[in-house]
Parts: sequence; structure tokens; C-alpha cells
Amino acid sequence: MIAIFLAHKIELRPTKEQEQYFRKSCGISRMVYNMCLYQSKETKWNKKEMLEYLKELKIEFPFIAEVSSRVSRNAIEDLENSYKRFFNKIGKFPKFKKRKLNESFSIREKEKFTIENRRLRIEKLKTKIKIRNKLRFEGTPKQCTISFQGGKWFASILVETILESRNPRDEIVGVDIGVKTLATLSNGVVFHNPKFFRSKQVKLKRLQQKFSRQKKDSNGWYKTKLKINKLHYYISEQRKSYLHELTSYLVSNFQVVGIEDLNVKGMVKNRRLSKSIIDSGFGMFREMLEYKCGLYGNKLIVIDRFFSSSKMCSECGCIKEDLKLSDRIYKCEHCGNEIDRDLQAAINIREVATDYSET
Ligand SMILES: [Zn+2]
Repeated sequence: MIAIFLAHKIELRPTKEQEQYFRKSCGISRMVYNMCLYQSKETKWNKKEMLEYLKELKIEFPFIAEVSSRVSRNAIEDLENSYKRFFNKIGKFPKFKKRKLNESFSIREKEKFTIENRRLRIEKLKTKIKIRNKLRFEGTPKQCTISFQGGKWFASILVETILESRNPRDEIVGVDIGVKTLATLSNGVVFHNPKFFRSKQVKLKRLQQKFSRQKKDSNGWYKTKLKINKLHYYISEQRKSYLHELTSYLVSNFQVVGIEDLNVKGMVKNRRLSKSIIDSGFGMFREMLEYKCGLYGNKLIVIDRFFSSSKMCSECGCIKEDLKLSDRIYKCEHCGNEIDRDLQAAINIREVATDYSET
């Protein structure tokens, strides 16, 4: 068993009141950090002294108590870490935090924050904060850092995960990455391409056309630009979370994962395919899968792209050269095998991956 830390940064959807609390906490965190830095520059860094000094600060500035006591304590810990990095020669001497540049505060203690589905609760806030995605990792949340970046609020949640020999997994899976469906697995499971991608693409195209007609630097031009950026962000976040789902399923259920090495560049040249390929975030899929296989000790087998996974009959092994992209069902003239084209490809990939993994 190994304990590892994984971080998931999630966008928050705070109410006006919650946002006010965040701003206040950020301000207090920054103030305590800066005052302690100023104080410790005079003498030498000493955490105990700083905690004493914090008591004085709390009397002088009673509003510090309006936010969780952890905010100011953790600001001191942050400063201590900056000093440690400096003393160990891995960081520069701590700098004063500037407003708007370092807007964040951390909560590290258990029970001071909890996360459940799409709700985050932090100490001193009566209402729960809406969050955009569920926490991606299972384990014990250890730290929550709330920050303000690019006009948005985020929570970065650090989770401690124990890796152990997990539930018995099937040995090998073959994955066919497709155009119509995102992924077809040799065990019959299908991950469909989310339909909203297409509708968002249409919306994006319309906005881009509008944008090109608008007068540069005009109010409307900026408004449309902002809308386009938001939409881009939204689409990419959705795609990412969908690919996380797929790759997590693969690594947690199978020991060996076989995929085809599709040449993305070559395929993108084909105009009719390009949109779907980009939509399904092909390169991102492979990157994520490689990363997770490394993390969880799965074996990833990448089969070269000249292997004709969809043209070969999975029953008798004969090759059908004239298979068209529009043929969704594969009918074998030799053995009478009738099977979904993508499933057949996945089964073939699985077969080749089995051979590879034995050598
Ligand atoms: Zn056949």
C-alpha cells in the first residue's frame, strides 16, 4: 500500500454572500502573511513567536475573528513553508503578497471543510458552496485552497489516496476509439460521444461569425470575445471530465489496456472526420490513459495503426478490404459472423494486445 496525494481544482459557484466571505478570508490571509513577514524580517523566523504575535494582531484587528481561525494560522504555515524553501535553497526569500495577485486562503484541518457531491462546506460559512464538478479522486481530503483567478473562484482539493491491490480486475481490454462513438470496449461497454459537443460547436461557430463582423475594440466586440472564451472553456472542461470518466473506468477494471495508435494528424486532414476527432479529444485521451496507467500500475499496449482492426473478422480472421466507413455492421462472407463494427475492432485489438502482453 502506498499513500499518494492528488489535487483536483474545481471551479466554484459562490453566492454573493459566500464570495464576500472568500474576499474577506483572502484579505485576512494576505494581511497576516505580510505582517508576520515584516515582523520576522526584523528578527529570525520563529513559528512560536509568530503564533504569539497573531494573538496580538487579533486584539488589534478584531475582524480577523470574523473568518475561520484556520485562515490566519495557515497563513503563518504558508509563510513558514516559504522560509523553509528559502533555507533549503529551493525558493527565493518570501515576498509580500500583493492584492489581486495572490488572492487565496487555505484550510488544512480535517472537519473544517467537507466535500459531498457538488457541495463544499467550509467552517464559518452557514451555506454550502456549489461546485462545478464532483471530486475526481476517492480518499481523504487533506487540504482545501480557495483562490481567485481570471475572474473565477476555484477550490483546489488535495486528497490522500491509498493505492492497494484493488478489486480483482479482468485481465485485458481492447478499446476502439471511434467517430460515431467515443469508445467501444471489447467487453461490450460503449462510451458515447456526448451530443452536446455538436450543439455547442454550432453555437461557437455562430459567435465566431458574429465576432468577425463586429467592430474591433467596440463594446459588443469585447462582449462576444468574452462569450467565446467562456464557451471554449466550458467545452474543454466537459470533454476533460468525460475523458476522466472513461480512463478511470479502464484503469480500475482492467490490468492491461490495448489501444490503437491512431495518427491524429493524419486523420485530422480528413475533413469529414476532423471535427469528431477533435471533439473526442483524442490526444488528451491517450495522455490521460498513459498517466493513469503509470500511476496505478496498469500496462498500456499501443498497437500500430496499420493493423486493420475493423477490417478483420474476429471469428475467422479473414480480411474484408472493401469495408466502408458507413458499414456499421460487419458481415463476414466466410463464416457468417455478424457483429457491430466497432465492437469487432475492440475485440481484435484485445487479441493483439494479448499477444503483445505475453511477449
Ligand atoms: Zn469470418
